[in-house]
Amino acid sequence: MIFFRPGVPDVLNGVDPYCENWIRTYRPQKAKAGEVAVVDVEGKTYQGGCRCGQVRYAAIGLSDIWYCHCCQCRSATGHFLAAAGVARACFSHTGKMRWTAISATTDFGYCAKCDSLLLWNHKEKDHISVIAGNIDNTAGLEVKGHIFVGSKAPYYEITDGLPQYDAYPTEGTR
Ligand SMILES: [Zn+2]
Ligand SMILES: [Zn+2]
Repeated sequence: MIFFRPGVPDVLNGVDPYCENWIRTYRPQKAKAGEVAVVDVEGKTYQGGCRCGQVRYAAIGLSDIWYCHCCQCRSATGHFLAAAGVARACFSHTGKMRWTAISATTDFGYCAKCDSLLLWNHKEKDHISVIAGNIDNTAGLEVKGHIFVGSKAPYYEITDGLPQYDAYPTEGTR
């Protein structure tokens, strides 16, 4: 068992100084004291949290990042979603979250205080997706490609050359 103590992120090496200063100033000190257990598995531990610092999380062995262009993700984020998957047993958080159903099987998870979007949860799957923008340090993660491109809005084009899928890739880690 690995114990994750919310607080000063120890994973900010290489983060842009502007962002590091913001994270250190605003987020860790507000995190609730305590420890949460995360199962002992192989893989790098990533930490993250909401804008106000009330919610902090640890995730071990995140998958790479996918961009989702579906209508639910676009409405929740204001553009398109960037998220990385992790086994549910390898994710733990402190702080109060608020869940909003976006379909019969899927919820978005927000900080109950500042409304930062943190998680995408499919109730019938054994993994969840962590919103990439709230991971303290994404070093080591790569973007794998675009999903639900069939639902993309027409006001933007995808020009990065990464693989595109109309819905889920037939294989993949999401
Ligand atoms: Zn918050
Ligand atoms: Zn989506």
